[in-house]
Amino acid sequence: MTHLNPQYEKLSQNYIFPLVQQKMADFKRQSPDNPLANMGIGDIQLPLAPSIVRGIEEAAREMEKNLYGYGPAEGYSFLRERLAVFEYSAYGFSTGEIFVSEGINNAIAAFSELFPLDASVGILDPTYPVYYANNILAGRENIMLLPCTEENGFCPSPPENHLDIVYLTTPNNPTGIAFSKDALQEWVDWAIEHQSILLIDAAYKAFITSENCPKSIYEIPGADRVAVEFCSFSKSAGFTGLRVGYTIVPKKVSLQTKNGPLPIGKYWQIQQDTKTNGVSYVMQKAALAALSDEGLRETAEQVATYQKSTKMIYNALKAKGQICYGGMDSPYIWWKVPFGSDWDFFDFLLNTLHVVAVPGAGFGRSGEGFIRLSGFQSEESCKIALEHLEKIEETAR
Ligand code: PLP
Repeated sequence: MTHLNPQYEKLSQNYIFPLVQQKMADFKRQSPDNPLANMGIGDIQLPLAPSIVRGIEEAAREMEKNLYGYGPAEGYSFLRERLAVFEYSAYGFSTGEIFVSEGINNAIAAFSELFPLDASVGILDPTYPVYYANNILAGRENIMLLPCTEENGFCPSPPENHLDIVYLTTPNNPTGIAFSKDALQEWVDWAIEHQSILLIDAAYKAFITSENCPKSIYEIPGADRVAVEFCSFSKSAGFTGLRVGYTIVPKKVSLQTKNGPLPIGKYWQIQQDTKTNGVSYVMQKAALAALSDEGLRETAEQVATYQKSTKMIYNALKAKGQICYGGMDSPYIWWKVPFGSDWDFFDFLLNTLHVVAVPGAGFGRSGEGFIRLSGFQSEESCKIALEHLEKIEETAR
């Protein structure tokens, strides 16, 4: 019989979200009359903005008249140009340094293929599990976890040793903490000194409000020599189900080759040409609509709703004497569990308060002892969440 790639057996636990979904489904089956406040999976809760729906409709009608077959793997120039002008011209980037993707998940996983199997990798702990899982599946063994703890404010400093690639997520999921300008400068300086590459996951940059936390790594001098930034319309414009993202691959970021250092973008283009046929025309038009004046206004309102919900939940927990982090620059609250393990507390929240959260250990070993709440809540679902959490004091004692 054909063998399974043994790397798949090296992933120590099931991916966290299916486990949470399973427990939620079991609860619903056993207690159909108890509604749940779902603060688990960090998916969007608001419907698509009207301007984006119109963008999709118009693009579909265009396709009725004109032929749009395979598009360029790196994305249509209308979207790349808009992104270059709208977001990245301030940092001196051109259209050729912006690549459209099907979202960060695909792009950041595929990007690791540009590095050799024996590359040394740094990954925050806890963080979004995809980077670790992908490197294990690829067969990498030299992985250094960088603990994000209360002591270091959940933002570890660079290590003494060399690493070839470091994944930094700012704001981080699940801690909800964004790296400050100083912390990012430290990483950029370290990457320049060590000739390392930083892979920045900026999925939640739209949620950053702290003045000293950059929304883009390129606010940091020198970052255009060492950092690739992964962005997405998923959380800022409600595209989790539509799938459009973009990756900034600066010309100055190089890889060592047989012919000396060459721009990494050249190889990312080859990767894209080989492994994708691009993102659909309709979805790229939808993304363009999200960047129109109306789209920006409507999606900013959605982000503001999530920010308000997150703050209300965070403040309610603080008022109950709970120890919580995050919530300020991201839609996630990182709640220090008041008793038991994070899975014990998860079960308690589910079975007693009828609240769904995500246990911190699911994001890495240093996540043990914490639980993540998602502030992706509409006004209505936030109200329900607050009602459920209201009983935390009396039941948790
Ligand atoms: N990066 C982080 C840190 C995330 O939390 C998520 C989704 O939750 C993603 C990336 C996925 O982004 P996309 O929908 O663009 O694939």
